[in-house]
Amino acid sequence: MPYHAPVAEYQFILDHVVRLEQVTATDRFADATPDVTAAILTEAGRMSQEVLSPLNRSGDQHPARLENGVLRTSPGFDQGYKAIADGGWVSISAHPDHGGMGLPMALATAVNEMMSSACLALQIIPLMTQGQIDALEHHASDALKRTYLPKLVSGEWNGTMNLTEPQAGSDVGALTTRAEPRGDGTYAITGQKIYISWGDNDFTDNVVHLVLARLPDGPPGTKGISLFLVPKFLPDEHGKPGRANDLKVVGVEHKMGLHGSPTCTMQYDGATGWLVGREHDGMRAMFTMMNNARLGVGGQGIGVAEAALQHALAYATDRKQGRTPVEGGTGAIVDHADVRRMLTTMKADIFAARAIALACAVAIDMETATGAPDWSARAAFLTPIAKAFGTDTGIEVANLGVQVHGGMGFVEETGAAQYLRDVRVTAIYEGTNGIQAMDLAARKLMDGGEAAHALIDEIEAQAEAARATLPDLAEPLWQASETLREGLDWMIAQSDLTQRFAGAVPFLRAFARVLGGHYHLAAAMAETAAGQGNGPRTRLARFYLTRLLPEHAGLLAHATAGADDLYALSPDDLAA
Ligand SMILES: Cc1cc2nc3c(=O)[nH]c(=O)nc-3n(C[C@H](O)[C@H](O)[C@H](O)COP(=O)(O)OP(=O)(O)OC[C@H]3O[C@@H](n4cnc5c(N)ncnc54)[C@H](O)[C@@H]3O)c2cc1C
Repeated sequence: MPYHAPVAEYQFILDHVVRLEQVTATDRFADATPDVTAAILTEAGRMSQEVLSPLNRSGDQHPARLENGVLRTSPGFDQGYKAIADGGWVSISAHPDHGGMGLPMALATAVNEMMSSACLALQIIPLMTQGQIDALEHHASDALKRTYLPKLVSGEWNGTMNLTEPQAGSDVGALTTRAEPRGDGTYAITGQKIYISWGDNDFTDNVVHLVLARLPDGPPGTKGISLFLVPKFLPDEHGKPGRANDLKVVGVEHKMGLHGSPTCTMQYDGATGWLVGREHDGMRAMFTMMNNARLGVGGQGIGVAEAALQHALAYATDRKQGRTPVEGGTGAIVDHADVRRMLTTMKADIFAARAIALACAVAIDMETATGAPDWSARAAFLTPIAKAFGTDTGIEVANLGVQVHGGMGFVEETGAAQYLRDVRVTAIYEGTNGIQAMDLAARKLMDGGEAAHALIDEIEAQAEAARATLPDLAEPLWQASETLREGLDWMIAQSDLTQRFAGAVPFLRAFARVLGGHYHLAAAMAETAAGQGNGPRTRLARFYLTRLLPEHAGLLAHATAGADDLYALSPDDLAA
């Protein structure tokens, strides 16, 4: 079933829900006029539909593989990547000084989501490169910027991110890769990295690795880590790929899904690298790339969810089973109440997750344009929510998509199963969703909850404003935000972080649930203001606020239960 890019939906959310006009009113993003925005969304949507979407199955069925040390990618991926690079889709938000379009992150987020819907395995390449461009723009020396940024921005070269080692996954500080200064401004990098997405390919001219490693005098833990740029080919005096560096791919993983994306084991044997940022301060630079990628991975989840919904809806309107209660209906399963429940849940959660991701992107843009600390705090607070809720939504929606298909969802030929297999990893990589939730409950509340309270204040103010026109939507949202505020205050009051961490995942999800209600209400208010009262957006909002929002109360009960009962059962008890 062909993917259809929901361009009008992005446009509506940008215009009426997350208010892109705040961003385009700044000098930095004044070029993102309505015409430009519409053209970008339309053109990226067309490319995703026509060029990338047909590659999704071939990537699944013909995985990337290592042949005598040479990485061979899935059929057609070279042409798909060329379309991405030629269209400038690698560098929508990169700075114009280096050849980027300099457009808002909000637009890049929408475009990335469309490419994820069409072919997630291929979309990872531009996503990783975008994160690397961001990290280099902020932390690299001018010389590195001059050599690498134009090539990364044009897509001639691609970027990767090398954190993980066998003993250092979530605990990045346990890494053992070494960096020895050579005394000529370069470093010799030695060690093994695992699970590196797109560690190599057979269609870009160079692969630029950002590698975390420890200098000989680096203290243990994350504080002693530095970041290095390590290219596959060392640029010659003209900046062209020259001698091969001392690194290679020694293995490609066999995975549950995402077969078209080579997940590589990389061996660095004294490879030449250059420091990015300051010595022992690599995590700061890497966090620029990781935060960029976290929002992007949230968008991956939403993109796959969108494709899974489209697939399921098409199947449900075609497949006939039993008698349905809809008079004059076709007898298709779409008219069974439980199938409607599944499809409408999918639609409502995609809207919520997409609005959260785009609101996070708008906050990043406002931070970039104004430097205002409030916007930085908003962006930092929303990033783990956008990542975890976007990817959880991807998994749940893809899972419902399989259910809507019945047995045809479990067999491979419909493609419904591939969405679930592919999207599953998004809750694991780029910091597991558990780690995202801990970040939210600890680091993101270090301001005493100021950013979180400011967000709840806005939710309540909007609910107040809607009381007269949409009371059945405004009231439950206002109540839910008060319950969320109590949960937030409980979290802040816990000085023992284990108490917070025990409930961090339900806390993050409760926050996302309430935020989702906030954005659904905004959509309904926009419809009402346009004289289209009780239109489809208002009816979808009513579904969300009536059926999905109430989950927040159970989540908050869980979030504030503390850790004691978790440790009341020992691993032996669990095994008994
Ligand atoms: C397909 C794929 C692509 C990837 N791409 C890249 C890439 O390009 N670059 C890269 O560097 N890495 C990449 N990764 C690695 C990925 O980021 C890690 O798998 C992830 O960070 C988790 O690390 P781990 O697998 O070692 O799991 P672990 O860290 O062992 O975690 C196992 C479980 O324990 C939990 N856990 C761990 N520590 C804590 C804690 N302190 N508190 C609470 N719970 C905890 C986790 O949440 C998880 O549920 C990729 C992985 C995959 C599968």
